[in-house]
This record gives sequence, C-alpha cells and structure tokens, in this order.
Amino acid sequence: MQNYIGRFAPSPTGPLHFGSLLTAVASYLDAKHNSGTWLVRMDDLDPPREIPGAADSILSTLDAYGLHWDGKVVYQSQRHDLYEAAVHLLLTNKQAFYCTCSRKQLAEHAHQQGQQTPPTYPGTCREQHSPPNMPSSIRLAVEDAQHPIGINDQLQGRFCQNLITDVGDFIIKRKDLLYAYHLAAVIDDHWQKISHIVRGIDLLDSTPRQCYLQQLLGFKEPHYAHLPVVVNNQGQKLSKQTFAQAIETTQCSLVLWSAISTLGLKPPTSLQHEPPEAILKWGTLAWNPKALINVTRINATQLTIDV
Ligand code: GLU
Ligand code: ZN
Repeated sequence: MQNYIGRFAPSPTGPLHFGSLLTAVASYLDAKHNSGTWLVRMDDLDPPREIPGAADSILSTLDAYGLHWDGKVVYQSQRHDLYEAAVHLLLTNKQAFYCTCSRKQLAEHAHQQGQQTPPTYPGTCREQHSPPNMPSSIRLAVEDAQHPIGINDQLQGRFCQNLITDVGDFIIKRKDLLYAYHLAAVIDDHWQKISHIVRGIDLLDSTPRQCYLQQLLGFKEPHYAHLPVVVNNQGQKLSKQTFAQAIETTQCSLVLWSAISTLGLKPPTSLQHEPPEAILKWGTLAWNPKALINVTRINATQLTIDV
C-alpha cells in the first residue's frame, strides 16, 4: 500500500450530526486500518452559510468521540492565495474565463432550450479572458474535457460523466469573490498529499469535475470511496434538513457503537460501554468496507435514532 493519507473535510455550516459522524468514522477507520494518516480540514469557504462556533464545535465533538486527527487542522479560509494563484493560471492558459451573464440571462437560455434548472452554461462568455468592467464570476471551460470522465470508486464502482452535456462550464470563483468548493478541495487535497478520499455519495456527482481540475493543474488523482446515503427507519435521508440534531457528546460510546454498526461492522454489545478509543481500536482492526460495495442506501442502526 502506498503511503495512505486520508482526510475528513467538514463545512462549518452546523454541528456534527450522525451522517457527518459516519463520514468521519469511515474515513478514520479506512485510514487507520491501512496504517495511514488521518487529517481534518475545515472547509470554511463560504462565510454566509457558516454558523459562528460550528468549526470549534465540530472539532471538539470529533475529539470527544476519540477521532483524534494527525497534524494541524487546515482552514480553507486561510488559503485564498493558493486558490487565487490557480485561478490566475487557468485564466492565463485560457482554460477559464470571466463570465458576466446574469442569473436571469442564464435562466432564460435554459428555458428556451427546455432545460431544467440548474441549466448547462451556454458558453456565452467563453472568449472573455481579460477582466471585464463589471462584476463577474470565473468559469472553467469544459469543451476540451475528455469524454466521459470516469472514476473507479472503491464502493460505487465505475462512475462516468460527460462534463459538456451533464455539467457545462462550471464556476471556480463566484461573482461575490468566494472560491468554489471544487477548486479549493482539489488544491487542498493535492497540497495535503491526500491519497484516499472517503466521503458521502452526495459528492460522487462532483468528482469528475474535480478530476478534470486535477488534470488541468497536473495533480495526481486520489482513490475515491463514496459512502451510501444513510436513512432512518422512515427511509428519510439523514441530512441537516431531516436530522439536524447535533450528536450528543454525553453518550459517545453508544453513538459510536451505532455508527460502526451502521457502517456494516458487528461490534460486540459489550463494547457499548467502553471508551470511544477502544471502540475505534476494535473498528480499525475489523474495518471491511465490502458490506458497503454497490450499496446506495444504508439504514442507521436504531440505537442511534433514540439517543
Ligand atoms: N466540505 C464538504 C462537505 O462537508 C466535503 C468536502 C469533501 O469531502 O470533499 O460536504
Ligand atoms: Zn457568461
């Protein structure tokens, strides 16, 4: 096994909930099972969506659950210079362009084409390589992308996307000057030498965009494993909308036991009363993501829903 470096990259838009704990636990166990390093990165790129105190609360919750990370936490809010340099490079190489289209213009175009929202960008500003005299976003031109772009996901198998027809020229820097998630994630994953990415299946769809950016920037593609969606007994997705409760830090062992059970492991009941570190140690040895292969939905272990 090459040098394994994994990561958990939460956005501080709220406290850790059971779904995000599962992602943290799965990425931790996969890293530790492979004698790897596990990093935490705070994806605090989008201040309007962030909740004051959420970043610290996420970190102290991870700590309480025994999910101790290696090295220092990296904050995306402190890394704008790197993102700007990449945007500049892509503009210079004419792989990116300034887009002055309004939301209304784009919606009208989509309507004429009979497209659903979000519309595929029509390419209107593709030749605009110098800064216009009005606020603009910066988009990546996907016309030269290889078709389709595919990944071999460790859990979801082969996943392919045609960036031209499925996505279109996408934004890497917004009109409000905020950097887009795809750009920042790709740069930081490269900079942190991440070899393995374990994250939620909601990001599978974003991965070909990230691979394309990796190709343009000359970065190595990490291994990907996208975890199934977690649903409760009513079949509802455990998201911030349907399951917003912050997870308790008073019953960490019980919740952690449920988390590793939800991930397909069969921990002995006696572990429910052991400290989180002992549960994670057991989980590290037992970790076997095979139970999650080709699975798109898993049921949260009942224990968790009640705590
Ligand atoms: N910050 C992203 C999120 O919380 C995840 C980023 C990633 O794992 O690539 O959805
Ligand atoms: Zn435009």
